[in-house]
Amino acid sequence: MAGLPTTARVVIIGGGVVGTSSLYHLCKAGWTDCVLLEKNELTSGSTWHAAGNVPTFSSSWSLMNMQRYSTELYRGLADAVDYPMNYHVTGSLRLAHSNERMQEFQRAKGMGRYQGMDIDVVGLDEVKRRYPFIETHELKGALYDPSDGDIDPAQLTQALAKGARDMGAKIIRFCPVTGVRRENGEWVVTTPQGEIRCEIVINAAGYRAAEVGRMFGREVPMMVMSHQYILFEEIPELAAWTKEQGHKLPLLRDVDTSYYLRQEKSGMNLGPYERNCRAHWATHNDPMPEDFSFQLFPDDLDRLEHYLADAVARVPILGTAGLSKVINGPIPYAPDGNPLIGPMPGVPNAFEACVFTFGIAQGGGAGKVLAEWVTEGQTEWDMWSCDPRRFTSFASAPDYCVAKGMEIYGNEYAGWPVRRL
Ligand SMILES: Cc1cc2nc3c(=O)[nH]c(=O)nc-3n(C[C@H](O)[C@H](O)[C@H](O)COP(=O)(O)OP(=O)(O)OC[C@H]3O[C@@H](n4cnc5c(N)ncnc54)[C@H](O)[C@@H]3O)c2cc1C
Repeated sequence: MAGLPTTARVVIIGGGVVGTSSLYHLCKAGWTDCVLLEKNELTSGSTWHAAGNVPTFSSSWSLMNMQRYSTELYRGLADAVDYPMNYHVTGSLRLAHSNERMQEFQRAKGMGRYQGMDIDVVGLDEVKRRYPFIETHELKGALYDPSDGDIDPAQLTQALAKGARDMGAKIIRFCPVTGVRRENGEWVVTTPQGEIRCEIVINAAGYRAAEVGRMFGREVPMMVMSHQYILFEEIPELAAWTKEQGHKLPLLRDVDTSYYLRQEKSGMNLGPYERNCRAHWATHNDPMPEDFSFQLFPDDLDRLEHYLADAVARVPILGTAGLSKVINGPIPYAPDGNPLIGPMPGVPNAFEACVFTFGIAQGGGAGKVLAEWVTEGQTEWDMWSCDPRRFTSFASAPDYCVAKGMEIYGNEYAGWPVRRL
């Protein structure tokens, strides 16, 4: 294991997909004197258990830019850093139950086309052609996004880490940051392995970002939700179809009912954003444990029953499959559901890249944006919707964060202008 250096230009706290992408992009910009400190093992926060969906769709210009950039980065990353990984670009069908939803899709199509993407709005014949197992009751049409896909989040993180290490950056694992202080215009970052002096610090601590923020005297506006997906056993009909076609089904998002359904090998992965949702670690009686690395919450399937029944009616072959695994993990939310990327409010030479609800899809783009903030003091795209300074201090009140986080989670797919993904 590499020892802790005594100095660095930049220290990143947190080795999930966002921290490693930030490190990779800083190195790409020529800032290689950077050190990433990770409390446990890389990916041990939210990243290891993520489903790995990488959509480009958003009704926000900045989020769409970040997600589009991620898909472009991920396509070439394995070769660029010589680290093979599983990235399936399957396309997706986002289903519309109403004319208003179709209108929303037309808007997203326009925005996507302007960003150079081939997004299209399609009718039910095309939906059925691309997804022969679907029942089209109550549907008006869909948005087809050819660049949607899924990636292995752990492999992605390791690939970014390898790329950064190869350019000269250092990653120190099992090295929790326990405090920071300002001394002679520099930051001194403390860990059980010693101290490290640096010019700039970045909080990329995921769902622990509030804890790290407090070391800087900053109350990060955030809370933590429980989010689940269900994996199903192999479906022989799907296995046969995939073999015959030579490719997987596109991912389905039924945004009006509020779930996604994705082919996972020859089975399925169902991920609802349930209205009847659940916050975690939200009260004094339920504090965040000191360590939750590589851990999950207990299954809570009752909450998902309605979505499961709807998905089986939509794709009846799902009803023939046994359930193989439930993943229920922590996912952080800011009061508007967008991540925090940019200068840490009121704190010199400190930045945030944290509180990602879609960190796998946005991680690539977020690394680019963060590196621009640090090395150039500005970003290529308008990133105000993700700028930590968009919130004033009232937004950090815990009750407010919990109430807004739950509202946003339950409306994750509701559509513009309520929600953007
Ligand atoms: C069930 C589930 C499914 C999901 N599916 C998807 C999906 O399909 N697509 C998608 O885009 N997103 C998905 N997400 C969300 C995604 O997992 C997160 O947005 C993403 O992993 C966040 O990455 P991160 O790097 O910001 O945080 P994390 O992965 O949590 O990394 C933060 C790291 O900081 C470290 N750390 C914390 N405190 C300290 C400290 N004091 N010192 C040093 N290190 C510290 C932690 O150990 C951790 O490794 C899903 C989430 C859940 C729960």
